[in-house]
Amino acid sequence: MSQFLRPNIRAMAGYTPGEQPQSGGIVKLNTNENPYPPSPRALEAMADLLRSDRLRKYPDPLGTAFCKTAGKLFGVDPDGILIGNGSDDILTILTRAFVPEKGLIVSPTPSYLLYSTLADIQGAKFEGVPFTKDWQLPTPWPRRNAHLTVVANPNSPTGTVVSNAALETLASELQGPLVIDEAYGDFAAASEPDAQTRQGAASLAGASGSNVIITRTLSKSYSLAGLRFGFAIASPSLIGELIKVKDSYNCDALSLAGAQAALEDQEYLRQTTAKIVATRARMTAELRTLGFDVLPSQANFVWATRSDRPVKPIFEALKQRNILVRYMNYPGFGDGLRISVGSDAEIDRLLAELKRIV
Ligand code: PMP
Repeated sequence: MSQFLRPNIRAMAGYTPGEQPQSGGIVKLNTNENPYPPSPRALEAMADLLRSDRLRKYPDPLGTAFCKTAGKLFGVDPDGILIGNGSDDILTILTRAFVPEKGLIVSPTPSYLLYSTLADIQGAKFEGVPFTKDWQLPTPWPRRNAHLTVVANPNSPTGTVVSNAALETLASELQGPLVIDEAYGDFAAASEPDAQTRQGAASLAGASGSNVIITRTLSKSYSLAGLRFGFAIASPSLIGELIKVKDSYNCDALSLAGAQAALEDQEYLRQTTAKIVATRARMTAELRTLGFDVLPSQANFVWATRSDRPVKPIFEALKQRNILVRYMNYPGFGDGLRISVGSDAEIDRLLAELKRIV
């Protein structure tokens, strides 16, 4: 049967998500989940929905109520919001909408590996433009004619950020759309002293004629990775086009109710992101004491490398001790450990084991 597949599907490797262990007792620091529970208001909204008869009916295909809340929070027209089943769904919609077969997706590298997988599925090419040594965008940008250019900001796995001004310059240089993937944007907004605004680069996206699209997720800062909810911000006319590409009911009624209530609870978001930012600072300092090179992160993870020895054995030793982190190896950039910021107790456990290992 597989001979009938499109050749690019047969040829591609597929994206490998971080491991989700089936057994308990694991300190899980490999997929940037939030160690704190979601907002109690989000949980309550979902419990209310389950008690109503709303699951019997189809959900609102456009998530109108959610878009109103998100529009207000980001200072944009609610018609400029597109809902998604996680931001990965949004990235898929954008690829299907903009990238033809044999087309081109470009992203700074190293970054989120899904961008090149999306190119593979589409039968398109992917090209990585290396970050500069200090993790900024090269100027002038060398590849202006991509069908889609994607910049994760903060970036993964490095946790580094580029300024909104640099992104605005990049957008003006490009001949195509610029997607700014702000999956970790709320952690940057909570980081001092270089804090970005809570709205991230949303102001670049909403205007008519803008070629900027922002993607956001509730998986990280809102602690709703299991719910699967993300959204895009762009000009209302572009969102009108993208709606044609998405599944009619790509977000279920439960996730819409939870996502809206989560966004309405900004005070809870502020409290939990502040705790994560504080743990991140302590963890960065202690990892450096243990001989790791750690980039200053504005996300909910850190990128730890070593110049004195390979890190893969450290990853394996941690795994044997029931601590999961993400080992990554980028050709041209070497390898490292991407370690999510867990609870203080989880990070204490990580640091204690690392002291024994290194
Ligand atoms: N963008 C980046 C940079 C990510 O790291 C992730 C998480 N793997 C996502 C998007 C997707 O997140 P989700 O689909 O859970 O919204």
